[in-house]
Amino acid sequence: MKTVVLAGGGHTHLEVLRRLTAERDTQVKWILVSASRYHYYSGMFSGFAEGLYTLEEIRIDLKKICENKKIDFIEETLQSFDPAKREVVLSSGERLSYDRLSLDIGSHTAPDQIEGLAERQVQIKPAHLFPERIEACRKAKELVIIGGGAAAVEMAFSFHQWKQQNGRKYDRVTVIASGNLVDKKTDSVVEALFTHKGIRYVKNDGAVKVADRYVTTESGAEILFNEVIFLGGAQAPALLKKSGLPVDEKGFIKVNACLQTTDDSQVFAAGDCAALITRPQLPKSGVYAVRQGEVLHHNLIASLKREGMQDYTPQRRALILLSTGGKQALMLYGKWRQFGSWAWLWKNYIDRGYMKKYQ
Ligand SMILES: Cc1cc2nc3c(=O)[nH]c(=O)nc-3n(C[C@H](O)[C@H](O)[C@H](O)COP(=O)(O)OP(=O)(O)OC[C@H]3O[C@@H](n4cnc5c(N)ncnc54)[C@H](O)[C@@H]3O)c2cc1C
Repeated sequence: MKTVVLAGGGHTHLEVLRRLTAERDTQVKWILVSASRYHYYSGMFSGFAEGLYTLEEIRIDLKKICENKKIDFIEETLQSFDPAKREVVLSSGERLSYDRLSLDIGSHTAPDQIEGLAERQVQIKPAHLFPERIEACRKAKELVIIGGGAAAVEMAFSFHQWKQQNGRKYDRVTVIASGNLVDKKTDSVVEALFTHKGIRYVKNDGAVKVADRYVTTESGAEILFNEVIFLGGAQAPALLKKSGLPVDEKGFIKVNACLQTTDDSQVFAAGDCAALITRPQLPKSGVYAVRQGEVLHHNLIASLKREGMQDYTPQRRALILLSTGGKQALMLYGKWRQFGSWAWLWKNYIDRGYMKKYQ
């Protein structure tokens, strides 16, 4: 009997689970180790923060899927793994041996570079922490979001909208960003929307320190906060580097086009936690993580059978539908930028379709 351990119930493993049929090889035991029994779909995080979706609408019950597919489900956190012994250690101390290990444990939002942030921020990643941490941000009189990427911008719009509609019009949402908002072509559109809605934007200024009540920026400005969230880019889980397998400069585990780690063909990785050596600049985004599922499913099975593997080739550009609050959205595709209610309806249709596929 061979054992495949899937660590983490992220976007890629969810697709692997969907593709595993009940009539599969009985000589292979599949185990899912997940920190939570639920997978939370990040495409709907902003809508949930805004109050447009319920908790049940944004999450998928992994345990139920595993029961239906006769896959062992262990609700625990992966603490470490030892490629030499082919063993994983769980939070309970339990050890599991594997023939193939696949990592899809996502990323974190706690950078060490900003002094005082780790102790004070509302940490909304790993993904299962998201729902319970939202309430503090909704109720914060001064909510500060550090970061200017798609996730930061979307969450700023969502919290602002929630406050407008729930009797908290005098609360303030502030975005601190050292670079462009989303990207160079989108920056001015988002800035105009921030101004129109009354979201404060601290521009071209990075956060350097977080103390009890203030975030200090590079320029020396002190920004008052009651709650602060860092959404300035994905951070690597420490256990990847500790395994001794090669990681990139940020600590994400290096994989080849087959999603196999570069030094150990028995260990696979996908989604945010993986650094694809063939496309080192690939954004950490759910869109790519989902697409890796088909290749990962094929390659895990092919690797056990010693058959040919497939390469994962990311799409050249991805469609981004960025919710701007109040059921409106901004569509970004290549050089195209379009804004309107239709873009939100499109996003809602895609996101609900995604959930329907798995629920
Ligand atoms: C606020 C926000 C909004 C976003 N919105 C979008 C969006 O609209 N569209 C988009 O494409 N991307 C979006 N992203 C990015 C997106 O969330 C990630 O790129 C995506 O989740 C990556 O998927 P994944 O499969 O790598 O990991 P995840 O989906 O994050 O899943 C990892 C899973 O592993 C679990 N886990 C973590 N550590 C362990 C461990 N040690 N042991 C066991 N389990 C563990 C976690 O609980 C989680 O369930 C957003 C990110 C944020 C922060």
